[in-house]
Amino acid sequence: MAVEKFTKVCTKCGIEKSIDDFQLNGGKDNKYRKSRCKPCFEEYRKQWCKLNPAKVASIKLRWINKNQEKMQSCRKNWDKNNPEKLRQKTRKYQASKKCAAPSWAKVEKMQEFYLMAEKLTKETGTPHEVDHLVPLVSDFVCGLHCEFNLSVIPRNINRSKGNLRWPDMP
Ligand SMILES: [Zn+2]
Repeated sequence: MAVEKFTKVCTKCGIEKSIDDFQLNGGKDNKYRKSRCKPCFEEYRKQWCKLNPAKVASIKLRWINKNQEKMQSCRKNWDKNNPEKLRQKTRKYQASKKCAAPSWAKVEKMQEFYLMAEKLTKETGTPHEVDHLVPLVSDFVCGLHCEFNLSVIPRNINRSKGNLRWPDMP
Protein backbone atom coordinates (compact mmCIF):
# COMPACT_ATOMS: atom_id res chain seq x y z
CA MET A 1 0.00 0.00 0.00
CA ALA A 2 1.27 3.43 -0.92
CA VAL A 3 2.33 5.75 1.84
CA GLU A 4 -0.29 8.44 2.25
CA LYS A 5 0.75 12.05 2.48
CA PHE A 6 -1.15 13.90 5.15
CA THR A 7 0.16 17.38 4.57
CA LYS A 8 0.96 19.46 1.54
CA VAL A 9 2.65 22.80 0.99
CA CYS A 10 0.49 25.39 -0.75
CA THR A 11 2.23 26.82 -3.83
CA LYS A 12 0.65 30.20 -3.21
CA CYS A 13 0.98 30.97 0.49
CA GLY A 14 3.75 28.44 1.09
CA ILE A 15 2.12 27.16 4.27
CA GLU A 16 2.16 23.45 5.00
CA LYS A 17 -1.41 22.41 5.60
CA SER A 18 -3.43 19.29 6.14
CA ILE A 19 -4.23 17.43 2.95
CA ASP A 20 -7.90 18.17 3.62
CA ASP A 21 -7.19 21.84 3.13
CA PHE A 22 -6.56 21.12 -0.53
CA GLN A 23 -9.46 20.52 -2.83
CA LEU A 24 -9.57 17.32 -4.83
CA ASN A 25 -8.77 18.01 -8.42
CA GLY A 26 -11.20 15.64 -10.08
CA GLY A 27 -9.78 13.58 -12.92
CA LYS A 28 -8.97 9.91 -12.77
CA ASP A 29 -9.75 8.37 -9.38
CA ASN A 30 -10.07 11.89 -8.05
CA LYS A 31 -6.84 11.31 -6.15
CA TYR A 32 -4.94 14.47 -7.00
CA ARG A 33 -5.36 17.67 -5.09
CA LYS A 34 -4.98 21.25 -6.16
CA SER A 35 -1.59 22.85 -5.63
CA ARG A 36 -3.14 25.82 -3.88
CA CYS A 37 -4.86 25.46 -0.53
CA LYS A 38 -8.61 26.05 -0.41
CA PRO A 39 -8.51 29.74 0.64
CA CYS A 40 -5.77 30.52 -1.91
CA PHE A 41 -7.60 28.66 -4.64
CA GLU A 42 -10.85 30.44 -3.83
CA GLU A 43 -9.06 33.75 -4.11
CA TYR A 44 -7.54 32.73 -7.42
CA ARG A 45 -10.91 31.44 -8.69
CA LYS A 46 -12.66 34.69 -7.84
CA GLN A 47 -10.02 36.73 -9.61
CA TRP A 48 -10.15 34.50 -12.64
CA CYS A 49 -13.94 34.67 -12.81
CA LYS A 50 -13.79 38.44 -12.64
CA LEU A 51 -11.29 38.57 -15.49
CA ASN A 52 -13.02 35.95 -17.65
CA PRO A 53 -16.79 36.44 -17.44
CA ALA A 54 -17.38 35.06 -20.94
CA LYS A 55 -15.36 31.94 -20.24
CA VAL A 56 -17.09 31.45 -16.91
CA ALA A 57 -20.43 31.68 -18.65
CA SER A 58 -19.55 29.17 -21.33
CA ILE A 59 -18.15 26.77 -18.73
CA LYS A 60 -21.42 27.06 -16.87
CA LEU A 61 -23.38 26.51 -20.04
CA ARG A 62 -21.46 23.36 -20.79
CA TRP A 63 -21.93 22.19 -17.24
CA ILE A 64 -25.65 22.93 -17.34
CA ASN A 65 -26.03 21.00 -20.56
CA LYS A 66 -24.18 18.03 -19.18
CA ASN A 67 -25.93 17.99 -15.84
CA GLN A 68 -29.53 18.83 -16.51
CA GLU A 69 -30.85 15.88 -14.54
CA LYS A 70 -28.46 16.51 -11.70
CA MET A 71 -29.54 20.12 -11.57
CA GLN A 72 -33.19 19.22 -11.53
CA SER A 73 -32.81 16.73 -8.73
CA CYS A 74 -30.53 19.12 -6.92
CA ARG A 75 -33.18 21.78 -7.19
CA LYS A 76 -35.89 19.38 -6.03
CA ASN A 77 -33.78 18.34 -3.09
CA TRP A 78 -33.11 21.90 -2.21
CA ASP A 79 -36.81 22.70 -2.38
CA LYS A 80 -37.60 19.74 -0.17
CA ASN A 81 -34.99 20.69 2.39
CA ASN A 82 -35.87 24.36 2.39
CA PRO A 83 -39.67 24.54 2.50
CA GLU A 84 -39.63 27.99 4.08
CA LYS A 85 -37.20 29.36 1.51
CA LEU A 86 -39.21 27.72 -1.23
CA ARG A 87 -42.32 29.52 -0.03
CA GLN A 88 -40.40 32.77 -0.02
CA LYS A 89 -39.16 32.05 -3.49
CA THR A 90 -42.64 31.32 -4.71
CA ARG A 91 -43.95 34.51 -3.16
CA LYS A 92 -41.11 36.47 -4.70
CA TYR A 93 -41.80 34.86 -8.04
CA GLN A 94 -45.46 35.64 -7.86
CA ALA A 95 -44.68 39.17 -6.85
CA SER A 96 -42.38 39.91 -9.72
CA LYS A 97 -42.96 37.27 -12.41
CA LYS A 98 -39.73 38.60 -13.80
CA CYS A 99 -37.65 36.07 -12.00
CA ALA A 100 -38.25 32.51 -13.09
CA ALA A 101 -36.35 29.30 -12.89
CA PRO A 102 -34.50 28.73 -16.14
CA SER A 103 -36.09 26.31 -18.52
CA TRP A 104 -34.00 24.22 -20.86
CA ALA A 105 -35.40 26.21 -23.69
CA LYS A 106 -33.60 29.14 -22.19
CA VAL A 107 -30.38 27.20 -22.03
CA GLU A 108 -30.74 26.57 -25.73
CA LYS A 109 -31.51 30.21 -26.24
CA MET A 110 -28.30 31.07 -24.43
CA GLN A 111 -26.36 28.91 -26.80
CA GLU A 112 -27.82 30.80 -29.70
CA PHE A 113 -26.21 33.90 -28.30
CA TYR A 114 -22.86 32.18 -28.26
CA LEU A 115 -23.29 31.06 -31.85
CA MET A 116 -24.29 34.58 -32.72
CA ALA A 117 -21.17 35.95 -31.07
CA GLU A 118 -19.05 33.47 -32.97
CA LYS A 119 -20.73 34.29 -36.26
CA LEU A 120 -20.38 38.03 -35.75
CA THR A 121 -16.75 37.61 -34.81
CA LYS A 122 -16.10 35.75 -38.05
CA GLU A 123 -18.15 38.09 -40.21
CA THR A 124 -16.96 41.40 -38.87
CA GLY A 125 -13.46 40.44 -37.81
CA THR A 126 -14.23 42.16 -34.51
CA PRO A 127 -14.28 39.78 -31.56
CA HIS A 128 -17.81 39.62 -30.14
CA GLU A 129 -18.76 38.38 -26.73
CA VAL A 130 -21.92 37.46 -24.96
CA ASP A 131 -22.69 40.06 -22.37
CA HIS A 132 -23.33 39.03 -18.78
CA LEU A 133 -25.72 36.15 -18.63
CA VAL A 134 -25.87 33.66 -15.86
CA PRO A 135 -25.37 35.64 -12.70
CA LEU A 136 -21.74 35.18 -11.87
CA VAL A 137 -22.34 33.53 -8.54
CA SER A 138 -20.81 30.26 -7.65
CA ASP A 139 -23.92 28.48 -6.43
CA PHE A 140 -25.43 28.47 -9.87
CA VAL A 141 -26.17 24.77 -9.44
CA CYS A 142 -29.13 25.43 -7.22
CA GLY A 143 -29.36 29.16 -7.32
CA LEU A 144 -30.18 29.86 -10.91
CA HIS A 145 -33.54 31.59 -10.64
CA CYS A 146 -33.24 34.71 -12.65
CA GLU A 147 -34.04 35.49 -16.19
CA PHE A 148 -30.95 35.49 -18.35
CA ASN A 149 -30.11 38.85 -19.64
CA LEU A 150 -28.25 38.26 -22.82
CA SER A 151 -26.81 40.33 -25.56
CA VAL A 152 -24.03 39.99 -28.05
CA ILE A 153 -21.72 42.93 -28.27
CA PRO A 154 -18.26 43.65 -29.65
CA ARG A 155 -15.60 42.68 -27.17
CA ASN A 156 -14.15 46.14 -26.72
CA ILE A 157 -17.58 47.46 -25.79
CA ASN A 158 -18.16 44.57 -23.44
CA ARG A 159 -14.83 45.24 -21.81
CA SER A 160 -15.63 48.90 -21.35
CA LYS A 161 -19.04 47.97 -19.95
CA GLY A 162 -20.99 49.64 -22.72
CA ASN A 163 -24.74 49.33 -22.84
CA LEU A 164 -25.29 48.32 -26.44
CA ARG A 165 -27.80 45.52 -26.65
CA TRP A 166 -28.08 43.05 -29.45
CA PRO A 167 -31.42 44.24 -30.93
CA ASP A 168 -29.86 47.69 -31.38
CA MET A 169 -26.78 46.40 -33.07
CA PRO A 170 -26.26 47.61 -36.68
ZN1 LIG B 1 -2.42 28.76 0.48
